[in-house]
Parts: sequence; structure tokens; C-alpha cells
Amino acid sequence: MRAERTSALIVALVAAVLVMIVVLMACSASSQPGGSGGTSGVGSTGGASRAAASASKADADAAARLASASENEPVTASSSLGGSASASDDSANDASDVASDDAQAAAGDGAGQAGAGSSDDAGAALSPAAPLVAEALGDGYAYDDLCADVAALAQAYPQWVTLDSLGQTADGRKLHHLVIGNAQAANKVLVHGGIHAREYFTTQLIMKQAAVFLAHAAAGDDYQGTPYASMLEESAIHLVPSVNPDGWVLSQQGADALARDEIRSRVAEIAAMDGASPDASYFSQWKANANGVDLNRNFDALWSDYAGSDHPSSERYKGSAPASEPEARALVSLTEQYGFSRTISYHSHGSVIYWYFGQDGALYDDTLQFAQAISATTGYTLDADYENLDPAGYKDWALQTCGIPSLTIEIGRGSSPVSADQYATIWEENQHVWETLLSRP
Ligand SMILES: [Zn+2]
Repeated sequence: MRAERTSALIVALVAAVLVMIVVLMACSASSQPGGSGGTSGVGSTGGASRAAASASKADADAAARLASASENEPVTASSSLGGSASASDDSANDASDVASDDAQAAAGDGAGQAGAGSSDDAGAALSPAAPLVAEALGDGYAYDDLCADVAALAQAYPQWVTLDSLGQTADGRKLHHLVIGNAQAANKVLVHGGIHAREYFTTQLIMKQAAVFLAHAAAGDDYQGTPYASMLEESAIHLVPSVNPDGWVLSQQGADALARDEIRSRVAEIAAMDGASPDASYFSQWKANANGVDLNRNFDALWSDYAGSDHPSSERYKGSAPASEPEARALVSLTEQYGFSRTISYHSHGSVIYWYFGQDGALYDDTLQFAQAISATTGYTLDADYENLDPAGYKDWALQTCGIPSLTIEIGRGSSPVSADQYATIWEENQHVWETLLSRP
């Protein structure tokens, strides 16, 4: 009996180690566009030592979706716990084709050590409160950092975080989708950022919001008398931290950072049409996706009436049809699937909140009330002058077509990308936006 028990223990330990390896590798598969697809379901493998207690919160629907989206990865929390043969096999298979530096990336090496949480656990990379790269608010937050942070959040808080993917971009990057809180809750909200390439600080802000909110919940804190944990129990926060990762990489790192030759050729052609040399200063101002479409002019809200520009890469180039772009389609599908009660689209810059698209009645009142609450916590002013703004944005579509109280929050001042010396101020202004979003008047 003792020998049996010892060998069972060894099997369990080996399985746990393999599960950790899978988590550490989760990001890298998606950041190698030519590599294997189907990397969703990552979160379900995380936190092997803690996941059992939280299995009751696992979302059956989300698990089913993950199961259908995932090719060969374990999809339920319990499957990673039992040290089952299938989990171990998947881990071993994945381990064979991923390089060791991926683990370093997933551990959030380097940049971020200034987070809200601290930990006395051994092995900081796997501790519940290990700070995300995003939390440091350092300059240069990159797509690979996002991948690492997403995996780290799911690993640290398996009871509250479920990972999903909305598909891949033209240049092969994953559209991360996180469900935070109780996926079964009636109240579902959406927060997304980074739909405009050069506005990538919004992605970093959203990830810090997630990390800090979850750390508060784990610590048993409350906000103005409401426990964070109960906010998570009563709501599901759907996050798409970067709707346009191709554009982000292009704006931040230039065309050489793109993965596919045809995409590099495409953006070079666009630069040539602009009479510009395809250098870093040109691409730093990029706002579109890799096809040159301004994604926030690609939604079916006065799209037909909107002339815009016929020139790809223009910030007014609306694309060939409503939702012609996969990134826009992903948000449309997500919204139609979940029926959000509220949405927030993070943009930069202006320190202003757009909330009006001609709606009336209860939707007018609800949206105004929502906007006023967000204005009170951020200090940003409200702007209702929609007739002088370009239409066909996500918020416009969510209001007009779906009837969802929806806001565009423009962070920062001056120009985009916002300068790094504004990061701390922007964080101060936006640190309680989630609490406000989840509060029901
Ligand atoms: Zn924008």
C-alpha cells in the first residue's frame, strides 16, 4: 500500500509540474503566429494547487465553449487536478515544441515588480499576488507582456478568471477574451481597449484594473461597503484588453515586428500610398488594423451614411462593409452572444467620455446616469456632441442596435500614444472604474 501511495504521489507531482509548464507556455503559442492554433482553455489549467476549491464556480457554458474551441488542451479545472493521463499527455505534447524562454516570458520577467500585491509564497511567478507586468505602469508594455499577464491572472485566480479567444488576427495574434467573476451571473458587462493601434496604453490600464480588482477580492476587501468578492459573484466582466493587437505591434515596434511577409508588404504599400517611408515614426501614428481599416469606423451604426476616407490607414477608412474586419466581427459576436448590460470602450486621448448617439427614453437616462457615475470617479468631462463626431464605432453600434448603455472613455491628454509620464495620473483617474461599472443604482 505504501508503495502504491508513494507512486500515486509521484504521479500527482509530475502532473502538477506539467500543468505549470502548460500555463507558462500558454502565451507563447499565440505569440508565434505560424505555430499551433487552439490555445484557449489556458486558464482552466492554472492554479493546480488551488483550483479544486473553486470548481463550483466554473462556468459550464464557458467550459463548453472552451472545449469546442480548444483542439487538445484540458478544459476543465478538475481535469488538471486529478493528474489524469490526458492532462499529462497534453502537457507533454505541448512541452515538446515550445522553447524554454517562453517560461521566462510568462513569469513576467523584468519589467513589472511594482504591483499592489505582495506575496510571501515561494516562487513569485506562481503566487496568487504576483504582480503583472502591466501593474508596473512601465513604458513599453508589449503584446507578449499581455499574453504573459493573461496567463498569470488565470493561474493566480482560477476561481474568478476564465480564458477564451475570439480568434486570430491577420498577422496571427490571439484576441484574448477573459471572463472575470461569475460567468453565470445575470449581469454581464464588457470592457475593451486597444481597438485603435496607437492607443495601446488602454490595454495596459485594463490589465492593471483586472489585477488590482482581483487582488482586492482575494484580500477580502470591500469598496464603499460592498465586498469585492460579492461584486465578482454577482457579475461577469468580459474583457477584451486588446481588440487590435496587430496594429498595436505595428505602432509600437514597427513593421519588422509583424510576423507575415504579406502583411509587412501590405503596410509598406499603404505607406507608399501615403508618400511616407515605412519607418518607426510613420507607423507610431498607425491607428488601423493590419488591413488599414479603422476598426472603430467598421460597425453598423450610420456606417452607410458615413463617407469617411477611401484611403487605407486613414483614421476615417471604414472598410468595405460593416464588420468586414475580424476584430470588429469578434466584438459583434461577443455582444450578441452575451447581451451585456453595459459596455466600456477605452480609447485615448482627451480625458472625455462619449455617451450619446441619439438615443432617447430609458436608454438615454440609463446611459447618462452611467456616464455621470464614471465622470465622477475619473474626473473626465462628458461630451454629447455626437453629430460632430465620426459614427460607426463600437459604442455607437452597441447603443443604436443593441440598446446597451455604452461609453467611450478617452484617457490621457495631448496625443497618442500617450506619454509615459501620464501613466500614473491615468491610473489614479481610472482605478475605480470597475467598481462604478458594477454598481447598480
Ligand atoms: Zn480611439
